[in-house]
Amino acid sequence: MKAKKHLFFDPERCTGCQLCELACSQVNAGEYNPDLSIIRLMSHPDLGTNLLCIQSRPCICGDGPESCTEICNVGAIRFVDDEEVPSMLKDRRWLAAPVVD
Ligand code: SF4
Ligand code: SF4
Repeated sequence: MKAKKHLFFDPERCTGCQLCELACSQVNAGEYNPDLSIIRLMSHPDLGTNLLCIQSRPCICGDGPESCTEICNVGAIRFVDDEEVPSMLKDRRWLAAPVVD
């Protein structure tokens, strides 16, 4: 979980490729293993779409570039500041990513 940033994702654009999980596990654990990723791809229980979640442990990317957003070639992930959260919540394309343990 990034300090002072909130993860949003676009379920229409997300293809389920898992590249974000692989990139995250590489920066966090030094290996390509989705089980070691902080960002987690799941299935939305109601919408039947992909659902991105984020674990509550700290993101190693800190304030720098996010490996997950950089590798997502369809622009389905965004981390936003507190100030941008209200506008993201009004935009129906974006869903707030749940925080999971
Ligand atoms: S968010 Fe992007 S990189 Fe991650 S699974 Fe979806 S399309 Fe792939
Ligand atoms: S910001 Fe970095 S540590 Fe956090 S989910 Fe994305 S790749 Fe993983």
